Amino acid sequence: MEKTMEKIVALAKARGFVYPGSEIYGGLANTWDYGNLGVELKNNVKKAWWQKFITSNPYNVGVDCAILMNPQTWVASGHLGGFSDPLMDCKECHERFRADKIIEDFAEENNIELNGSVDGWSQEQMMNFIEEHKIPCPTCGKHNFTEIRQFNLMFKTFQGVTEDAKNTVYLRPETAQGIFVNFKNVQRTSRKKIPFGIGQVGKSFRNEITPGNFTFRTREFEQMELEFFCEPDTDLEWFAYWKQFCIDWLQTLGIKADEMRVRDHDKEELSFYSKATTDIEFLFPFGWGELWGIADRTDYDLSQHANVSGQDLSYFDDQKNTKYIPYVIEPSLGADRVVLAFLCAAYDEEEIGEGDVRTVLHFHPALAPVKIGILPLSKKLNEGAEKIYEQLSQKYNCEFDDRGNIGKRYRRQDEIGTPFCITYDFDSEEDHCVTVRFRDSMEQERVAIDQLDSYFADKFDF
Ligand code: ATP
Repeated sequence: MEKTMEKIVALAKARGFVYPGSEIYGGLANTWDYGNLGVELKNNVKKAWWQKFITSNPYNVGVDCAILMNPQTWVASGHLGGFSDPLMDCKECHERFRADKIIEDFAEENNIELNGSVDGWSQEQMMNFIEEHKIPCPTCGKHNFTEIRQFNLMFKTFQGVTEDAKNTVYLRPETAQGIFVNFKNVQRTSRKKIPFGIGQVGKSFRNEITPGNFTFRTREFEQMELEFFCEPDTDLEWFAYWKQFCIDWLQTLGIKADEMRVRDHDKEELSFYSKATTDIEFLFPFGWGELWGIADRTDYDLSQHANVSGQDLSYFDDQKNTKYIPYVIEPSLGADRVVLAFLCAAYDEEEIGEGDVRTVLHFHPALAPVKIGILPLSKKLNEGAEKIYEQLSQKYNCEFDDRGNIGKRYRRQDEIGTPFCITYDFDSEEDHCVTVRFRDSMEQERVAIDQLDSYFADKFDF
């Protein structure tokens, strides 16, 4: 079976996971809307993150901060100065590119060793490399580029009625800064002692030059970020701890070891403030892509905010009687990216019997958008089946389907990843039992109706 993006995008659209944005107006490039199943899947992914990183975690608490922030935030974080991509145009076909990406792609195709990412190169270094290797335009093949210009990735807008510099605000390009500016507030109100973390799930915006690969890279996306504050000198231990924690989270939810790899950045690739950075990557049908960035950010962010705001953001350890600016470990995960990874990982076409193929999404039950399909064998049995639906839909997202033959209905549930189907048949009226069918093994089991609550009680845990 070949797993392609075309198949996954088509299924996503046909079944209500993801539609192209603003479709009736011909769309808006690289925007996507989650449909009736997509919203359930994405909410389940965010819930699974929140549960493991916040609710059940002894160290961490959560926040939900504003997208618009005082612009000084972006001065302190470095986004106003440095958050830009090196942009260049082809003078022949007028296609626009990121210079660093052209270099990286060219180097990979021609087996040229670059020593990590081109991210840290100067504009001049990039231009020299492009000239020296006569890199052709990926679209038209000619070699005739403009100079490189730096393009800031932050979306700009205005707060209030006058559109002038004084009223300029930015849509946040990451959720992390809302956490840093509230470090003192949360520490005080939660009465947490270091080490502790603050997590947030929310929208971020980046005016990406080259969005694409479905929902992998978009200009509006959601992030799930944790900023974990610890004592200096304990940072590398905590870095290792959170790295493993993230790997475990992905694997528990069904990402297999061979579709995941962990890439430690080498010295040349590290940001100047970072002591260690790791990317957890996933093997998408279009190749390896970063899912999760885990970075030891030292005391950089809190120090920057302390300098720019003039506020004291240090922490006083009353047991050791010392004062310091905490170090930060940041695991940062894209919600849309990891949803896409779960969708790709789950997708399967299985041969079941002679020439018969079923499409199935093997979601972990905790992530499956519909938990239980409730299927009366005949419309005459709707009353009894509806009672079961009423009971179980109090707790689980259930789907009631009484249309078409039972085999087709099972297939439809397989295709949207429903882990369990309940069939209510003529015997059910007599023996007060139903048949539970499992998506993956297709095996069936008879369960008493009054036992269904306890039967399902632990089926969606992870
Ligand atoms: P990339 O190299 O792919 O642009 P990045 O290194 O700039 O990513 P970070 O700034 O570390 O990304 O952001 C943390 C996480 O947020 C990423 O690992 C990714 O999952 C997600 N993310 C970042 N940019 C986007 C985007 N444009 N669309 C969707 N998700 C994104």
